[in-house]
Amino acid sequence: MKQRKAKIDRVSIAHANGNARRYAKGYMESVDNFRGDAQKKERLEKHLCKSCFYFFKSRIGGAMMTSRACGLCDTEMNFCSTATDPLCLSCAKDNGLCKQCGGDIESKDRRNAYPFEIN
Ligand SMILES: [Zn+2]
Ligand SMILES: [Zn+2]
Repeated sequence: MKQRKAKIDRVSIAHANGNARRYAKGYMESVDNFRGDAQKKERLEKHLCKSCFYFFKSRIGGAMMTSRACGLCDTEMNFCSTATDPLCLSCAKDNGLCKQCGGDIESKDRRNAYPFEIN
């Protein structure tokens, strides 16, 4: 594949500068929010770890109805995108796991057994 050459001029540079500054600002804000866990209540309602909530909020997936079984209870879940979660909300809550990435809600390696390992 060959792409068309870019047009570089004062306007394109100013446009790129604006984007670069906006992205940087957005990332810095995300880092601040991550550090302070700024939206903890909302995060825990969705049962997401800090990384998923503050950094991987807008996941990119194809716009296609997709179904997937929960990795623990086999309940069929439906998504409006190909970016699916590995767990249903109740399994994530019952086991202290992040619904989106399937890791620990506090991103910690635990020694104790998770509830699903005992039952
Ligand atoms: Zn489940
Ligand atoms: Zn996560």
